[in-house]
Amino acid sequence: MIEMIALPYSFNDLEPYISAKTLEYHYGKHYKNYVDTLNKLIKGTEYENMSLEEIVKAVYGKPDQQAIFNNAGQVLNHQLFWQMMKKGGGKPQGKILEKIEKQFGSYDNFRQQFKEAALTQFGSGWAWLVQDGDELKIVKTSNADTPVARGQKPLMVLDVWEHAYYLDYQNRRADFVDVFLDNLANWQ
Ligand code: MN
Repeated sequence: MIEMIALPYSFNDLEPYISAKTLEYHYGKHYKNYVDTLNKLIKGTEYENMSLEEIVKAVYGKPDQQAIFNNAGQVLNHQLFWQMMKKGGGKPQGKILEKIEKQFGSYDNFRQQFKEAALTQFGSGWAWLVQDGDELKIVKTSNADTPVARGQKPLMVLDVWEHAYYLDYQNRRADFVDVFLDNLANWQ
C-alpha cells in the first residue's frame, strides 16, 4: 500500500507561478489517481509490501508489468517534483553550485541545457538533473519513465506533462520552464 505524501506547501503558496487551481488538479486528481491505480494494481501481488523505489526497480523493463511501472513511476516522479519546488528558485548556492559549475562550466550553461531538455522532450515527460556515479547529467524521460529505475539519483526534476502547466501557460512550455528555474526550483 502506497500512501500519498502531503504537499510541503498550500495550494496557493506557489502563486503566481503555479495557480492554486493547477495544483489542486495536479495533486488532487492526477497524482491521487496514480496512487489509487497503483494500489489497485499491486494489491495481492508480490509488489504489495515493497517501497515505491523497490516497485519501480522490480518492474522496470518487464513488458507484462508496464501498467504497474507507469503508475509507480508517475507516483515517484511527482513526489520528487513536489519536494523540489518552493517559492524562490534561481541560482543555487554551496555544494550543489560547485558541482554544477564543475560539470557544466557555469550555472548559465546548466540552465540552458536543462531548459533545452525540457523543451525537446516530445510529448509528455520529465526533465532531470541527476547524479550518475561521480557525474552530474541532464536527462529527459518520456511518460512515466524515471532515472531512479536505472540507479541515477535525482537532484532536480520538472514535470513537462501538459497537465503541469496548461491551465496557467496553455501551450507556452518555455515560459513554464523559465518560471520553474527562476522562481520555483528548490535546491535545498
Ligand atoms: Mn504531473
